[in-house]
Amino acid sequence: MIVGIDPGHGGVNRGCWVREFGDEADYVLKLGRRLREVIPGSVLLRQYDQTMDLYQRNEIATSNECDIVVSLHANAVEGDVLHGLSCFSFPGNERTLALGKRINILCPPELVAKPRDGVLRAKPMVIADKTPWKARARSVLRHFGCDVLLIEVGFGAVDFAAMLDLGVQYRLCLAINKAIGEIYGQQD
Ligand SMILES: [Zn+2]
Repeated sequence: MIVGIDPGHGGVNRGCWVREFGDEADYVLKLGRRLREVIPGSVLLRQYDQTMDLYQRNEIATSNECDIVVSLHANAVEGDVLHGLSCFSFPGNERTLALGKRINILCPPELVAKPRDGVLRAKPMVIADKTPWKARARSVLRHFGCDVLLIEVGFGAVDFAAMLDLGVQYRLCLAINKAIGEIYGQQD
């Protein structure tokens, strides 16, 4: 059981930019390195600030025989409906859907997806999403030959305090590791 950790963007591709924490590319690389320390035997698909396309990332995941890739991203824009963490799986399967749901339940309360008005509704998390504005996320998900779950850690403009908090980051990494262990079995 091998987990691939894919910090999105990097190199010339900076991702989104938020005043409070800078580039998405830098942010998810730091988070990916923390997650790497928490998940035994996991593989970082992008280790440095380098330009990498999705084919290269999939090649590294394949050569390391990854069973699941967790792709880390952040939203720049202020969530108009949601804030907090969202997981995407497309087209998804039972395991990736279960993993996304589990991460949403186990993640630190500061990052639990909530509608902006604070009222929790039945389905705060978007998964197996088909909306056109998620085309970019889908293109990431399609490029991997193994299971892949894309995690958008939060909306930078509203969630930056929680996203930058090292304690919250650590608890998020523990939650991701625990959820993967539950759904995919223990890591080697
Ligand atoms: Zn991104």
